[in-house]
Amino acid sequence: MPPTLICTECHAAAAPLDWRCAVCGGPLDFAELPSFDPGSINADDFSLWRYAAMLPVERRFSLGEGLTPLVQTEDEGLPFHAKLEYLNPTGSYKDRGTVTLINHLLAHGVREVVEDSSGNAGASVAAYCTASDIHARIFVPASGTPAKKALIARFGGELVEIAGPQHAKTLACMEAAKTTTYASHAWSPYFVLGQMTVAWEVWEQMGHRAPDAVALPVGHGGLLLGFARGFHSLHQAGLIDRLPRLFAVQAESCDPIVRAWESGADIPSEVTPEPTVADGIIVEVPVRGKEVLAAIRRSNGGALRVSDEAILAAQQRLARRGLIVEPTSAAPVAALARLREILGNDASIVIPLTGNGLKMLTA
Ligand SMILES: [Zn+2]
Repeated sequence: MPPTLICTECHAAAAPLDWRCAVCGGPLDFAELPSFDPGSINADDFSLWRYAAMLPVERRFSLGEGLTPLVQTEDEGLPFHAKLEYLNPTGSYKDRGTVTLINHLLAHGVREVVEDSSGNAGASVAAYCTASDIHARIFVPASGTPAKKALIARFGGELVEIAGPQHAKTLACMEAAKTTTYASHAWSPYFVLGQMTVAWEVWEQMGHRAPDAVALPVGHGGLLLGFARGFHSLHQAGLIDRLPRLFAVQAESCDPIVRAWESGADIPSEVTPEPTVADGIIVEVPVRGKEVLAAIRRSNGGALRVSDEAILAAQQRLARRGLIVEPTSAAPVAALARLREILGNDASIVIPLTGNGLKMLTA
């Protein structure tokens, strides 16, 4: 039986290829998902498909995503576990969500999609689509970074450049989505589905234990929800006795989750984003922001903001430890001293290093 999608706001049922609720416009989610069963992990599969029994999509196409290394490192004398998500096939954690989304689309015979992202999601969707014979039109801001646009084109995506502010590309893409399939990393529940596997890998790699905390950069918050849902399913299965505390880290110049957290609000605060070096998390209105805030609260976590200067300094220090990440990925490392103040010196902290810095090297 294919999984049933329902609206998270009005609980109306949705069709398999809908990207949002046809009744109220709210984000969709699975009515239910398989329980986590450790006995069904395929230990002979060295990709995220070792958890195929827990993923309600059939594997038709894969680039070997997932099962990234978890390494112990430190920053300015403060230890943490780095999950090297930038070693995924297209250089970012997005591949986990893209592969489950694309396999869902392949199962429904989709041959053409649209997506809006000038960054890692655009590159990931372009690569997975082209390699599995789906035509991908990727809407990007005309002002976007040339290197990132070039990567999308190299992977075979058709670039559609839209002039105007950042959200103009999203509006143009939503218009195009009226007549074709929207492979949205922000909206599709199939994208969050694949992100759950990162929690399961961390649990296996730490000797079937959960860390005390996870800190990560948050834009839409898909990866945070992946960790939250993944650890929740381990907790439900009795495999961990408590949920790791989840800490969202945002840039000072675009911090709707942090502001909401500080004011005790249930939904993201309204912000007017300024440019930041953390371009992967410039998201004015996180699609599942309400769920992100609820997941932070349920885990007894928090939300922290960091400056561009601190992000760039952390990125450089990471490179000197052999970890080549883009600025966005260094944001939680820039918050590590404050995390240690909150959590103490003995707590185990996992930081997923989300995006490859090789994409952005200029000199
Ligand atoms: Zn609805």
